[in-house]
Amino acid sequence: MLRKKILLMFVIGFALFMFVGCNAEETQQEEVAEEQETTGAIDEAIEVAEEDELFITTSFSILGDVISTIVGDRGTVEYIVPIGEEPHEYEPVPSDFRKVSDSDVFYVNGLGLEEWLEKLVESVGDVEVISVSDGVTPIMLGGDEEEDPHAWMSVANVQLYVEAIVADLIERDPAGESTYRENADAYLAELEELDAYIKAEIEAIPEENRVIVVSEDAFKYFGEAYGFQTEGVWEINSHEEGTPGQIARVIDVVNDQSIPAIFVETTVDRRYMESVAGDTGVEIAGEVYTDAIGQEGSGAETYILMMKHNVDTFVNGLK
Ligand SMILES: [Zn+2]
Repeated sequence: MLRKKILLMFVIGFALFMFVGCNAEETQQEEVAEEQETTGAIDEAIEVAEEDELFITTSFSILGDVISTIVGDRGTVEYIVPIGEEPHEYEPVPSDFRKVSDSDVFYVNGLGLEEWLEKLVESVGDVEVISVSDGVTPIMLGGDEEEDPHAWMSVANVQLYVEAIVADLIERDPAGESTYRENADAYLAELEELDAYIKAEIEAIPEENRVIVVSEDAFKYFGEAYGFQTEGVWEINSHEEGTPGQIARVIDVVNDQSIPAIFVETTVDRRYMESVAGDTGVEIAGEVYTDAIGQEGSGAETYILMMKHNVDTFVNGLK
C-alpha cells in the first residue's frame, strides 16, 4: 500500500514538473495538449492507487464486525482489543502501534471508550482517527461530566455508526461508493430486523421483570431504547471497584424488586455477580456480551448475533 502511495506521489510530482517546466515556451495550443496529457497521467496514477485495497484498523471487535460488513472485499479490517478483553483500559502492545501506523484510517468508538487512545495515537504519526459515534445522543454517567461510551447497545445508534462509516469510506475511496452503499444498505436492513426482533422478544418479559443486573452497567443505551431498568455493581469498567458497599447496593436492588435473574458479562470477572447470586439466592441466568463479540463457535461472532444472544438470555432468565 505504502509503495503505491509513493508511486502515486512520484507520478503526480513528475507530471506537474513536466507541465510547469514546459509551460513557458509553449503556444496556447501546445499548452492545452500538454495539460490534457498531464491530467491523463494523474488520472492514471489515481486509478492505480484505487485498485489497491484499504487497510483499516479499529479499536475493538464489535466495530471490527460492523466495519468489515460495510467494507466487504474492498479492504482489510483489523481490531486492536482482543475478544474477551475489555476495551476501556486496554494496554496497547507493539504490534498494535504497527497496525495503526500502517492503516489508511483508524476508526474508534469515541465517547471516551478508548482511554488508551491518546497514548497510541501520539506515537503512530499522522494516521487519521475517526470517531464513528458523532451522531449519537450520549447518555451521561451519573454525577459526572463523562459520557457513557456503550452507545452500540442500542441498535439505532449502530445505524448511526454505519452512516458515519459509509460516508467516511466513500470520501476515502470514491471508486468503492456503490459497494459501500450496497453493503451498508443491506446491513441497515438487517439492523432494522434486529431491532424488530428485540422489541418482539422482550414482550415475553413481564414489565416488572425488565431489569438487567450485571457487573458493569453497560446496558443503559439498551435500557433506554427498549424500556429496561439497568443496574451494575459499578457504572463503567474504567471506574471499576466492586467494593462491598457497591455489591451490597445491588443485592438490595435484587431483593427489593424480587428480580428473578442476574447476568454476567463475557469480558468481566464473574466473581462479583457470583457474590450477588450467593447472597440473594438468585441465579446467574447466563453470560451476555457487552464490550466484545463472541469467540468463533460461540454463536455470538457478530454484533447482530451477540445482541440476539443477549436478548434470548434476558428473556430466558426474566420471563
Ligand atoms: Zn464497558
